Amino acid sequence: MKLLVHVCCGPCFIIPYQEFHRDGFTATAYYFNPNIHPFSEYEHRLETARRYCQDNDVDLIEDRYKLEDYFRAIAGHEKKPERCRKCFQLRLEHTAATAEARGFNAFSTSLLVSPYQQHEDIKATGEALAEKYRVDFIYRDLRPRYHDSVVESRRLEMYRQSFCGCVFSERERILEKRAAKLKRRAGKLGTKNY
Ligand code: SF4
Repeated sequence: MKLLVHVCCGPCFIIPYQEFHRDGFTATAYYFNPNIHPFSEYEHRLETARRYCQDNDVDLIEDRYKLEDYFRAIAGHEKKPERCRKCFQLRLEHTAATAEARGFNAFSTSLLVSPYQQHEDIKATGEALAEKYRVDFIYRDLRPRYHDSVVESRRLEMYRQSFCGCVFSERERILEKRAAKLKRRAGKLGTKNY
């Protein structure tokens, strides 16, 4: 069965590739991620995915990088969780449409391995798109194997990013880190009572 797997980055593709291969699917990777900023970060992740696919003899379809697609999709929905729903919709819709146009039997996504994503939204989006494009959505809860993907990607010395992808997520990551640091410092110093 020919399966088109949306790939958000190289490390997150490891486990879906292993699982789908074990289940008898012939997986082709599909890289469509206009949500990744800046462009240098996008290229870095793409290069990592390319190398993994080459090493494992997996075909990779690289789609266009149009920032505009992403910002149009999320305009007016910049806050989480709505922003991420729009982002999943954009990326998975392109995957489903490509699967349908190129004669794949089904599609899926590497996002299913991440415990940091809105898993139920990804599942619901994939299932709705399967109906729309009449291509099966292969769902697996791969989160229990997230740790394996971390270990394996480190072993392979793959690039691992520190934020989800968009400029919003980079800002959120920096602010969260800063807040955690301040909290730790406050804990060490104790609080003053007047
Ligand atoms: S945080 Fe991640 S999933 Fe959410 S909008 Fe940004 S890139 Fe997309």
